[in-house]
Amino acid sequence: TTDETTVLPPVAPVHPGAAGPLAELQARDITAWFGDRKVLDRVSLTMPAGGITALIGPSGCGKSTFLRILNRMHELVPSARLAGEVLLDGQDVYDPDRRLIDARRAIGMVFQKPNPFPAMSIRENVLAGLRLTGTRASRSVKEELVESCLTKAGLWTEVRDRLDAPGGGLSGGQQQRLCIARSLAVKPRVLLMDEPCSALDPTSTRVIEETMLELAREVTIVIVTHNMQQAARVSSTCAFFLASHGTPGVIVEHGDTRAMFSSPRDQRTSDYVNGRF
Ligand code: ADP
Ligand code: MG
Repeated sequence: TTDETTVLPPVAPVHPGAAGPLAELQARDITAWFGDRKVLDRVSLTMPAGGITALIGPSGCGKSTFLRILNRMHELVPSARLAGEVLLDGQDVYDPDRRLIDARRAIGMVFQKPNPFPAMSIRENVLAGLRLTGTRASRSVKEELVESCLTKAGLWTEVRDRLDAPGGGLSGGQQQRLCIARSLAVKPRVLLMDEPCSALDPTSTRVIEETMLELAREVTIVIVTHNMQQAARVSSTCAFFLASHGTPGVIVEHGDTRAMFSSPRDQRTSDYVNGRF
């Protein structure tokens, strides 16, 4: 076992009884295809309200696909097909009577590579989602929103004096926190994060982890990570995905993160979390 795979205790407790309307996200029997190729096979997972759920597993096993299905980004790929259900507090995210923009607004996404609008100011980056969702707000409400979102994203004290500076001028870790602030501005109930720290240095990674632990008070978080220490530090629930020998991705094992890391039920989980493949 290398140092990289040593399991550390979480840096802070996850907050279960948090303020605000915390939402549970549930995936039921999700099967996904690209063209004729099945990449996920009947994946079911409950992502508890106010928890941080970590999706782990080797590359290519369908973690990103699963995450994109949760907020209907999968359907942006023309060859993509889908069976199964996604429920946000029991409500069908794919309900044809529900506007797509409402689903995306309720379920935000942060990507591996920080992608703020580089030429746009820090302030305008945070507010960008309001325009997309057609939300009107007075100037003072917008200023309050900018401050509260940047505060929640752990960036306020670093940028409060330069809100008019371009987002592209920030460091990588700051840009990622700006993207988190931008996601928060439309008041999502769930935040999906696809390897949000893979492009960042260890210090920025740690700052984002602490931000996530705070955010879990008000949004349900689902994170894809290749970093087992990170999964152990931040998540309360964990799901291990695997796609072996050309078979589509499935969840081999899921449940309480500490239990899964300390006493995995499946040998393949044990091998993976201990860095043996
Ligand atoms: P992971 O995030 O676990 O690395 P992905 O969800 O990105 O896995 O990919 C799962 C499988 O789906 C892989 O075999 C990948 O090649 C395939 N795949 C992903 N995106 C597309 C796409 N847009 N078109 C076709 N195949 C894709
Ligand atoms: Mg991926």
